[in-house]
Amino acid sequence: SVVAWDADEARRDAILPGTGRWQPEADGGVDASGVARGHPSTSLAGSPPRAGEDLRLAPLDDLTGFDAVVVSPGVPLNTHPLAAQAKAAEVPVIGDIELFAQARSELPPHKVVGITGTNGKSTTTALIHHLCQTAGIPSLMGGNIGLPILAQEPLAAGGVYVLELSSYQIDLTRSLDCEVAVLLNVTPDHLDRYDGFEAYAASKARLFAMQSPEHEAVIGIGDAASAQIARGLSARGEHLTKIAPGACMDQRSWPSLQGPHNAQNALAAIAVAKALGIAEADIDRGLASFAGLPHRMELVATVNGVAYVDDSKATNPESTAPALGAFGRVHWIVGGRPKGDDLDACAPYFDRVAAAYTIGEAGPRFAEVLKGRVPVVEQAGTLDAAVRHAAAAAQPGDTVLLSPACASFDQFSDYEARGRAFRAAVGDLA
Ligand code: ADP
Repeated sequence: SVVAWDADEARRDAILPGTGRWQPEADGGVDASGVARGHPSTSLAGSPPRAGEDLRLAPLDDLTGFDAVVVSPGVPLNTHPLAAQAKAAEVPVIGDIELFAQARSELPPHKVVGITGTNGKSTTTALIHHLCQTAGIPSLMGGNIGLPILAQEPLAAGGVYVLELSSYQIDLTRSLDCEVAVLLNVTPDHLDRYDGFEAYAASKARLFAMQSPEHEAVIGIGDAASAQIARGLSARGEHLTKIAPGACMDQRSWPSLQGPHNAQNALAAIAVAKALGIAEADIDRGLASFAGLPHRMELVATVNGVAYVDDSKATNPESTAPALGAFGRVHWIVGGRPKGDDLDACAPYFDRVAAAYTIGEAGPRFAEVLKGRVPVVEQAGTLDAAVRHAAAAAQPGDTVLLSPACASFDQFSDYEARGRAFRAAVGDLA
């Protein structure tokens, strides 16, 4: 029996030992579509309740007899009372990836590639999936990207499950032995949910601790924390591949993998592809035909010789920096709900910036920060105004880049809506 718990406090659901029935505790009731829509663990735990079914309140204050508590990665384990309660009752707290790991022995022969890191996970995951597809290997993506893994059809024999894993998901996983595990980088993020940076880095390192030592590890060693994790795995010998920072000559033939950060992502994906036995020619074809992901340095249009690039997914200065570094003369649209007070991580690329247009809550502060450090700073306020003003100033060959270094929630529902608004504003220029 398991308890399934979503981050949304209104929906707490349980099957009690021996009953096999959903017993929602929430008094908001449960609709016919099931519990905690889109939540993978619920579909595993039993049939969702039918409308009108007699549902009693579950006494979740007593976890005796439960095998596990299955939570969504949105539940903060450091502060949520259920986590403490489960610990006291010695009931493991797990997530959908762990349920998948436990079911692996029943699947046709397959391999699992797990990808983690602070930045670049989605790009690298999608790229590895694409390299498998190019080589004719059945594969699917899951975890922190696309559909939850348990919501997808299992692969035929010889398939590769390519899993993007956030540190929250790793925290909820105990027995995932990846045939290939990838760590791209570890820089400060999500520190509200960890007792400091060390604990966050330790969470990432657990991906390797769960592996059999003869399985492959691929680690980007461009930051101190990742380099340290790699040193800890030196006993793996040739089963450890280290990706050193630096440019990569072949990148010119990979249209969707520009910029130094994408060199890291591509080199990691190449190492994985080689570990999976993919032929070099297939790897080359795959890198050249990779279309990239929406809102990650996505070329939206070229108007009057000016490229318009949507990097709305860059929600912190660390992820904006490589985008600035990827282009020549940039008209930079920056701002939103800030995660910090400065843009120091972007400073190495300020020489690329012809003009900065600040938007959203961070607008006034960022205008102050950038004043005197880039040639032109304008407080545009809105994304629409920023696009119009940038378009008026840009010369052929320039790039107008939306790479906000901020969350979107001050002006948009999410980063995707912000990216769509950028595309629409660019469309209005023509
Ligand atoms: P994640 O899934 O880890 O959030 P994404 O692949 O979605 O990462 O990329 C998010 C943003 O992070 C991109 O817009 C890009 O600017 C930046 N980025 C991508 N790869 C890297 C990397 N290897 N190192 C640093 N920043 C990166």
